[in-house]
Amino acid sequence: MKCKCGKKAVFYRSHEGTGYCKKCLCYQVEKTFKRTVKKNGLIKKGDKLAVAISGGKDSSVLLYLLRDIQKNIPFEMFAISIDEGIKGYRNKSLIFAKKLAKSLGIKHHIFSFKDNIKITLDEMPKNRKHCTYCGVFRRYLLNKKSLGLHAKKLALGHNMDDEAQSIIMNVMRDDLSRFNRLGAFPEHSKNSKFIPRIKPLRNISEKEITAYAIIKKISFYEEECPMSHDNFRRDVQSVLNDIENKHAGTKIKIVSFYDKVKTYTNIKKKGKMKYCQKCGEPSANDLCKTCELLKKVLK
Ligand SMILES: [Zn+2]
Ligand SMILES: [Zn+2]
Repeated sequence: MKCKCGKKAVFYRSHEGTGYCKKCLCYQVEKTFKRTVKKNGLIKKGDKLAVAISGGKDSSVLLYLLRDIQKNIPFEMFAISIDEGIKGYRNKSLIFAKKLAKSLGIKHHIFSFKDNIKITLDEMPKNRKHCTYCGVFRRYLLNKKSLGLHAKKLALGHNMDDEAQSIIMNVMRDDLSRFNRLGAFPEHSKNSKFIPRIKPLRNISEKEITAYAIIKKISFYEEECPMSHDNFRRDVQSVLNDIENKHAGTKIKIVSFYDKVKTYTNIKKKGKMKYCQKCGEPSANDLCKTCELLKKVLK
């Protein structure tokens, strides 16, 4: 198969029925990235971004592409990683994260569960829902530490597959509040203790990100987290992949439909924000989710 430019195609976009050569695929990925940034006003001149990186493909490509558009938009950034303390996994992936940040000349901060919440994921009782705990603690630290380092926004490597899964998951859970918090630039609280999050890769598929990383020789850690088995997201991912294989373009359509529907579902939440009595971070209740869960695992 040939690319439209005449060169040998290395990638096939089945929903378009078109082949892409290396150069044209990279151009396409970069174009989509820039369009998402521009259309949603993700980065402004003079911004300071905290970029969450794990050493995996998505966040590695994110950091690389952000470095690239600094040529066009003057903004500052640093990389940030959370070490949950999953032996044999996170320690290995962080080697890739460190190497990439260094090669791009970007300052990199690593914060561990051990130092900051006193317990690693490995040390938590095994009957816990690991992904829930891990997610809550990770988001808590990313928010707190990014703000502590004076970032204005937190950039995350969520790709289009992640986004389509989240949309469907929230439909299946009848969770309108979480549903409304998706998108490339989710609605954020005006509270200065919450960092706004941006998802510049939100319109690029996982396959294209992987291909881009390989073509650009961005090395990344390929293993999946050993703790995350049998969760809801995995099930939704597998169903969506099956449907995508039979009906190419389904994921793009889910994401596009979301953008159309969001205008109607986005009802502002009322209710006053409180602060956690224990740690002082913003919280819906007397104790924030992190402190509440920590009470269960720390004896
Ligand atoms: Zn081409
Ligand atoms: Zn708290």
